[in-house]
Amino acid sequence: MRLAGRIENLPAYLFAELDRKVAERRRAGVDVISFAIGDPDQPTPAHIVDALREAAEDPSTHRYPSYYGLPEFRSAVADFYERRFGVALDPDTQVLPLIGSKEGIANLATAFVDPGEVALVPEPSYPVYDIGTRLAGGTPYLLPLTAANRFLPMLDGVPDEVAFKAKVLWMGYPSNPTAAVASLEDFEAAVFFARRHDLLLAHDNAYSEITFDGYVAPSVLEVPGAQDVAVEFGSLSKIYNMTGWRIGFVVGAAKAIEAIGRVKTNVDSGIFNAIQRAGVVALNGPQDHLRPLLEIYRRRRDAIVATFNEAGWTLDSPKGSLYVWVPVPEGETSGSFADRLLDEAGVVVAPGRGYGPSGEGYVRFSITLEDGRMAEGLERVRRLLKDG
Ligand SMILES: *Cc1c(COP(=O)(O)O)cnc(C)c1O
Repeated sequence: MRLAGRIENLPAYLFAELDRKVAERRRAGVDVISFAIGDPDQPTPAHIVDALREAAEDPSTHRYPSYYGLPEFRSAVADFYERRFGVALDPDTQVLPLIGSKEGIANLATAFVDPGEVALVPEPSYPVYDIGTRLAGGTPYLLPLTAANRFLPMLDGVPDEVAFKAKVLWMGYPSNPTAAVASLEDFEAAVFFARRHDLLLAHDNAYSEITFDGYVAPSVLEVPGAQDVAVEFGSLSKIYNMTGWRIGFVVGAAKAIEAIGRVKTNVDSGIFNAIQRAGVVALNGPQDHLRPLLEIYRRRRDAIVATFNEAGWTLDSPKGSLYVWVPVPEGETSGSFADRLLDEAGVVVAPGRGYGPSGEGYVRFSITLEDGRMAEGLERVRRLLKDG
């Protein structure tokens, strides 16, 4: 058999080699502590689990769901946008449920990028923006994100001939992996750019509620006129500790929502209705799990930042996401530092290079590690940094 070129040409999975080394260490009996995975360790709030149990016992949920999702779930998303961002959405034409936002992020390219066409992909970033573009046969035009520019894309620097050709501009704030945040003014500039170059602005807001120190993450749809040129991806995964459930949504420009929906009706059959009913309860119900959850995350974030700052780093505390983005010591690469942490401390981090070429020089620490393991892991990092 012969595989398709489109998957043979995918970049090698940059964490595969690290995974292999971790497995090898574990086999050798090393107690490996992983800061590499951004997957909430806290359980889904009980009232949401109860809603699933109840819905699962109703046989009417056992049949194929509607292609465009439960009307009640679409309304719950629209109501959430109204309450949270002051953004009014038509639940029938501007909200599309997704089997986790990753699914829609990957499917967007099928709707927008023909073979040979260009999508503007900031990097380092969530790998799916890039991979989705490539799977559709498109070409990502990478926009390097650097500390000098607060890890925001320099849209003024995109050559006109690229910008006018591009079909999509990706953004994602609070950011995985850099933990950078964007202001409404930053989004205004992106909406202006999208309008000027007649392209779709696709914003990934997976961490909208995972923010700290009084910072409130905006929606790109708060920008006047954004609903003509932008969509925003949302996810219940990080906000309600529901990564395993697979439920998210995309909202915004009706023409784009219709197009993504058309792709999906041809390749999937929607989300288990019982999960959508539980999703309604999550979005409409009490949000009081968030405060203690954010307190746990903030404490962990502070512990990681303190570990490095005590060793001479000058990290600012990130205002959002589940990560701390740490520059590697002088003379090391993201790969060599990650290797050294594993070999000498039994600690796993995600090498920044895995998120794009401009991730070189950084590693990503996740704050989704249980407190005891986290303390032990950071103690080992502290010793390693002290011994040089
Ligand atoms: C976790 C994550 C997602 C998606 O999650 P789903 O579980 O597929 O909804 C999307 N974008 C970013 C940046 C993420 O980190």
